[in-house]
Amino acid sequence: MRNRSIIFVVGLAVTLFSFLLPSLQLSSAQASSLETFEVNNTVINVRSIPSIDGEIVGQLEKGDQLVAFDEQYGWVQTYYAGKEVWVAKYLLIAKSSNSPPSPNPTLNQSTNLEGYNIIIDPGHGGKDPGAIGINNIQEKELVFSTSLKVVEQLQDHGATVITTRANDDFISLEDRVRISNSYNTHVFISIHYNAAINHSANGITTYIRDNSDRDLGQSIQRTMISNVTLHDRGVRQADFKVLRETEAPSVLLELGFITNFTDLSIVQTEAYQESIAEGITNGVLEYVE
Ligand SMILES: [Zn+2]
Repeated sequence: MRNRSIIFVVGLAVTLFSFLLPSLQLSSAQASSLETFEVNNTVINVRSIPSIDGEIVGQLEKGDQLVAFDEQYGWVQTYYAGKEVWVAKYLLIAKSSNSPPSPNPTLNQSTNLEGYNIIIDPGHGGKDPGAIGINNIQEKELVFSTSLKVVEQLQDHGATVITTRANDDFISLEDRVRISNSYNTHVFISIHYNAAINHSANGITTYIRDNSDRDLGQSIQRTMISNVTLHDRGVRQADFKVLRETEAPSVLLELGFITNFTDLSIVQTEAYQESIAEGITNGVLEYVE
């Protein structure tokens, strides 16, 4: 199956993938508005540079949609698997123009997240499975299904949600940081599940880098814990790259131990993932109040 991580398809996927809006740091010489295109050929190549000499890094199919954030020499630039890539414009049909996330949100709305740009960073992916738990369950899979629920709930509250991976793709830590720092990001949330050699280790931890993230971390940890039955391991400090190098207030959430039998039996359920997503969303709402 082809890599389709940045393809904009109709329905739910449009919502989920709307994070692939371009950087807010485009210069005025570049495209001033974002345009959505639909692929108008059976299969088209995605290239590393705006030229037919460019390396083919993927393919799109007829009906796939993409958001272009620059245009040069008849080629449009978009994101594909976390990378900036080019597609020949004559193979596309224009759908609509989009506005980038608002750089000047109203910051005082306590009941909704309209105007807030929130990055959801599903940990691991692709060749990096993350931790391996009981029955060989891979962290990256639980992280992904949970992240989709978080994205959905934040969007239900009006947030503009950008995710660092839209599929089972490997995205480097550098790219995760770069994606966050290229938006006017208000909150960065990295989603993980924990593992330990000691199978009795259990519960939920929120990691922050320093005191500047403490309010956000405490809000989210509190609202998560009040929504689920897992043990509260508290807010802890750690020097993770995605916390250290992201400019926005950021947290890294460990949503239970996949090496603990009880935790795993709970976190695999749809009900848990919905509840924890609601807890995270409530924490963000509390934080921005
Ligand atoms: Zn992880």
